[in-house]
Amino acid sequence: MSEQKYDVIIAGSGLGGLICGYILAKNGYKIAIFEKNPQIGGCLQTFKRNGVTFDTGMHYIGSMDEGQILHRFFKYLNLLDDVKLSRLDTNGYEVINFAGKEYRFANGSENFVKTLAEQFPDNEEEIRTYLQQISKIAESSPLYNLHQINSDTFINTQYAMTSVNEFIENITKNPLLQNILAGNMPLYAGVKDKTPIYVMALINNFFIQSAFRIVGGSDSIANSLAKSIETFGGKIFRNAEIDEFLCNETKMTQIRLTNGKMFDADYFISNIHPEPTLAKIHSPLIRTAYRQRISSIENTISNFTLFVKFKENSVKYLNFNYYYYDCKSIWNTDDYDTENFPQIYLYMHQAVAENQEFAQSAQIITYMPYAEVSKWDKTTVGKRGADYEQFKKDKAEKIIDKLTERFPDFRSSIEEYYTCSPLTYRDYTGTVAGSMYGILRDKNFPLQTRISQRTKIPNFFFTGQNINSHGILGVTIGAIITSAEIVDANLIINEIGC
Ligand SMILES: Cc1cc2nc3c(=O)[nH]c(=O)nc-3n(C[C@H](O)[C@H](O)[C@H](O)COP(=O)(O)OP(=O)(O)OC[C@H]3O[C@@H](n4cnc5c(N)ncnc54)[C@H](O)[C@@H]3O)c2cc1C
Repeated sequence: MSEQKYDVIIAGSGLGGLICGYILAKNGYKIAIFEKNPQIGGCLQTFKRNGVTFDTGMHYIGSMDEGQILHRFFKYLNLLDDVKLSRLDTNGYEVINFAGKEYRFANGSENFVKTLAEQFPDNEEEIRTYLQQISKIAESSPLYNLHQINSDTFINTQYAMTSVNEFIENITKNPLLQNILAGNMPLYAGVKDKTPIYVMALINNFFIQSAFRIVGGSDSIANSLAKSIETFGGKIFRNAEIDEFLCNETKMTQIRLTNGKMFDADYFISNIHPEPTLAKIHSPLIRTAYRQRISSIENTISNFTLFVKFKENSVKYLNFNYYYYDCKSIWNTDDYDTENFPQIYLYMHQAVAENQEFAQSAQIITYMPYAEVSKWDKTTVGKRGADYEQFKKDKAEKIIDKLTERFPDFRSSIEEYYTCSPLTYRDYTGTVAGSMYGILRDKNFPLQTRISQRTKIPNFFFTGQNINSHGILGVTIGAIITSAEIVDANLIINEIGC
């Protein structure tokens, strides 16, 4: 027996699910979001230990100055009052430590060129060309201006068929500069000869405009969207894991939760990774070839994160993100080496206020393939055993040693620390093998690795990081594209003011 009938059921309350919920509820649709966890948000979840909040996924966002692209979306999504920001250093929001030296990415086109050219005086024109090209790629994308929202070709094919490394190698022959230009690659977990240039161009163009940490935690985005959705009359069910999507001969009709409750709707949107979503649909409307294609696609690498609470007033707040590489090439994700762990880390302080003097806490994110933890595959959160706890402790100690080489007071400033592994991500976000950003786009298979929001089930759509691009901008635009399958696209576009 069905509990209730909705216009639209949304599976998962990640950013994509919440934005679809916001748009549809605002436009008068009776929507319900079903989230398996007690906390909404997916990668926007935070956790609190001893008075300190830690982000688990999203840490910083860009293009948030008035008139810039994310600012326009946040205004439409009514997020500007609830989400407090702290600006990163405009003269170096990213610091890249490679081959023993530090390099900075600065905000603003001229500032970006000038700052890098101080260390690459012979390559100034190449840096300028790089910047012009990524801006051209990002802005030529219909994603940026939303004019072709219903088009199925989001990306100029040329940009989907050129890899990041090919693009950079064409711009400069200086191997050091090639590495530095790809220096914030953990933001997209790029893979050499695979990751298409548009993925990197959209992200870097976005952050070069302006870059901010989210004060207090990225759950403020999820909570604000949820508040608006409920004000519009939408429902959000927590602890509500979807077990099956049910169809009749022509379309989807119902969902069933793991507790057996059933809910009907006219339309369905899945914010869950496509592979586990399809495993919950047994209808022949989804063809075998499509299932095989989705399950054969590679996913981006996962990560191991160390969360540190500092002793009070012991560490000055770092107003930038710090990327460290202990390897000959930045493109070494495939050569992951357990002995020399971590070869790559991204070190970020958590913002608790604007202009804070000291850091309360930090996250250090390192790559980790799922294979490292696969022997605990069958375990669940908090019940993985002593050997798993020891594994995590060993990894944490190695990270602390590595950080202390660069920041000598790091170890002595730690009051306590926590860790999470690919298994944690798998279990909290439902992403395949704890993948950081979902499906890996591959320039060799541009069509096969681009997932459409549409499926062969006419009233069932995807949203989230797997259908367009990951990150705050990619998922926001993806959610607009998905919602435009139900609401007139022009209504959304006119309201955003694109
Ligand atoms: C470590 C890390 C750092 C990041 N840092 C940044 C950053 O600084 N800036 C940035 O812009 N982006 C960042 N990202 C990327 C960004 O956070 C994600 O791309 C984005 O939040 C993903 O949103 P999504 O809509 O795809 O949903 P997800 O966050 O993947 O959420 C999916 C939701 O579905 C739920 N779900 C799964 N299965 C079920 C089920 N059966 N029933 C009900 N619910 C279910 C999950 O519990 C989850 O809530 C980061 C990601 C990671 C992992």
